[in-house]
Amino acid sequence: MKIHKGVITFKLTGEDKSNWAITKSNNEIWIHKGAKIGNDEGIYQRFITHEMGHAFNNATDWEANSTITADLERPIRTYYESEEVVNKKGETVLDKHGNPVTTQVERMEIDHYDEDAAILYRSESKYHYYGYAGGSNWQFGYDPNNRQGEEFADMYVGWVFGKWGAGDMADARRSHMDEVMPELVKYAYDK
Ligand SMILES: [Zn+2]
Repeated sequence: MKIHKGVITFKLTGEDKSNWAITKSNNEIWIHKGAKIGNDEGIYQRFITHEMGHAFNNATDWEANSTITADLERPIRTYYESEEVVNKKGETVLDKHGNPVTTQVERMEIDHYDEDAAILYRSESKYHYYGYAGGSNWQFGYDPNNRQGEEFADMYVGWVFGKWGAGDMADARRSHMDEVMPELVKYAYDK
């Protein structure tokens, strides 16, 4: 209550957006239609926690955001799109119906947020957990224009549930959160 300066309000917008939710402020979270309330295996629970991570970030005047250093950032995500298959002569290969044969090609998402990419990326074919406890069940942030904020929100999930992946990045994330969270909570509380 003191940290978020009031109760956290969740508003079900009923809107069909490509993202599941948007956190509007330190204590207001809008949930969109696609979020599938009651999603099993704890995914929904962790997704709500992710949004609360954004709200907490907001409550710290984005100080939480600024603690995320470059070494904690996941690579910009890749996604896949269809491309027509060509033969060695450079001719488009057709199927028996005369339609071009397509294959999935990996693309880098560099300078813009492709809304479809978030969904396509969930195919998880080349998924790395980057120190998180899992893939799309534990990582919810996909916005390259807000890399630190999404990274913090996902790390907030790891911190709340006390669960991380394995390896150096997991250790780095765990110790980072253990170090900064007490200070951030105090900052937001005292504000
Ligand atoms: Zn997010």
